[in-house]
Amino acid sequence: MTVKEMQWDLAQLVKSDDPDEIEKELDAAVASAQEFQEKYAGKIANLDAKGVLGYLEENDDMKLKFEGAKRYSYLMYQADSTTDLAKKLNDKERRASMLVAQSLIVLQIELGKLLSETPKIVEDPVIKEHKHYLEKILREVPHKLSVEQEQLTIIKDKNGIRAWQMIQGDWLSTRKYDIEIEGKVKTMPYGEIVALYEHADRNVRRLANHVVYEALGKDEILWASAVRAICADHIQMCKLRKHPTMTSQSLIANDLDQGTLDSLMKTIEKNVGVYRNYLKIKAKIMGLKKLGSWDIMAPLPNAPEIKYTWKEARKETVGAYTEFDGEIGGWIDEMYEQCHIDGEVRDGKRSGAFCSTWHNGKSAYILQSFNGMMGDVFTQAHELGHAAHAYLGTRAQKPSNYEIGSCIAEVGSIFGELLLTERLLTKAKSKEEKQAILATVLDGAGMAAFQVSARFFFEQSMYDAIEEGKFLDGNTVAALWTAGRDKIYGNSVEWLPEMKWEWTMKVHYYMPNFRFYNYPYVFAQLFVYALYRLYKEQGKEFVPKLKTILSAGSSRSPRDLAADVGFDITTEEFWQKGIDQFAEFIKMLEDAL
Ligand SMILES: [Zn+2]
Repeated sequence: MTVKEMQWDLAQLVKSDDPDEIEKELDAAVASAQEFQEKYAGKIANLDAKGVLGYLEENDDMKLKFEGAKRYSYLMYQADSTTDLAKKLNDKERRASMLVAQSLIVLQIELGKLLSETPKIVEDPVIKEHKHYLEKILREVPHKLSVEQEQLTIIKDKNGIRAWQMIQGDWLSTRKYDIEIEGKVKTMPYGEIVALYEHADRNVRRLANHVVYEALGKDEILWASAVRAICADHIQMCKLRKHPTMTSQSLIANDLDQGTLDSLMKTIEKNVGVYRNYLKIKAKIMGLKKLGSWDIMAPLPNAPEIKYTWKEARKETVGAYTEFDGEIGGWIDEMYEQCHIDGEVRDGKRSGAFCSTWHNGKSAYILQSFNGMMGDVFTQAHELGHAAHAYLGTRAQKPSNYEIGSCIAEVGSIFGELLLTERLLTKAKSKEEKQAILATVLDGAGMAAFQVSARFFFEQSMYDAIEEGKFLDGNTVAALWTAGRDKIYGNSVEWLPEMKWEWTMKVHYYMPNFRFYNYPYVFAQLFVYALYRLYKEQGKEFVPKLKTILSAGSSRSPRDLAADVGFDITTEEFWQKGIDQFAEFIKMLEDAL
């Protein structure tokens, strides 16, 4: 099979890419999970450490055995959802995954019970490799309900919160927005009009924001009903599951502790001035007294438009990673050489970009739509950082130790973006080009670290308000949102009044079991900036440290991983290092004026 350079070659994932064979494999995955369940159901309580090890290894082997067919079906659909074959295989894969998960859930509950009754198993040297995996299960045990209640919870979420999520998504995607550009009224769906937020013309950006948020505000009853019900549900579920705080559930999922989260958010609060200073400088570059909310993510007006071919992009990303480490650079080049990146723009391809780990192949597959813009090269560098993470992690860890939480998952990718930044800055031909690169970096980091923190404050304030007995109608929620937002922005930005409805469009607020999705982004951004600062201080001595972090998968907690490189993430001093790097980029931007 020959493939074009910008298309991925999925056939490597499977022994045979005959669709009948793939379907057989998916059926076999379900049968094998059922056999596994029959073998262990009711018997886990009697296992000793060696027995638990055997159980975990068998489970890992099963995941590896059927990984290829599952990934093949999933990725084929992501790349082109229009063909009947892709639809069929994707559907089959989703059903198979659900059946496998159903078979395994009972066993996981039994394992949790065993560990809570015999915690010394976790400490047994026989099972050392899986220690942290078992610790995580143990941490969840006190918050688990009975099997019947857990099953009911799944049904409740599926027909409750998940239904709100579907309404939110369907509502947004089916509204039409009228906008007048250059004297002509155009009608656009949400997905199209939001692209105008980054339009070169300031007035178009402003108008697009106005049109969208004014319309969203008109449906405030819908949004407030959803958010109010979802937040109240979370409060009640936390009580039922005996979670001490509203963040407790997400802290367990993210493998973090409350003290670390508090230090992180306090550091952000203390440093809002750093971000506001950047916004002031950006306003100056744009020739404005003050940025409008519609300018925060806008491209600089004097940014040169530089286009990259696929070959040039490859040269820059491989070069950036190779300058850091030859081995990683080699793997990045292999991603192109072996056709593991799907960059072609085509109909039926999902939007955005992602990297999917291929554990058996000790590699990964990347999807993006490459249009040759500088942003596309940054996206590629970002996803390739995930791939480097996959190359290192799959070599060192079994699947059960490769369930990487959101805080650590972005380490390779954000670090990779910084490596590309460095390379492009040294090659920049004009000060305008330098400014454009640095503003892109600062816009992204400002969004991830600061704007997302506003969403954290906002979310917390909604639970507090409900606990205080307040009724969350649309205007109350909007007031909580603007209060959280203003904590970050102060009066450094002019907001359109209708931007008080900004919270309505954020899908995460409507997703089941996704409370406090936000702070891991803040964590990742500052964590990687702190690591990058260490790299700048230590040079080549730092390289093996990053590789250790990326090799660890989920076998260690973020706190222990950071401790390995000499960081204490429970302290504000640590997080300040991340802010210092943000300030360093601002200084570089000022030097380039
Ligand atoms: Zn990412």
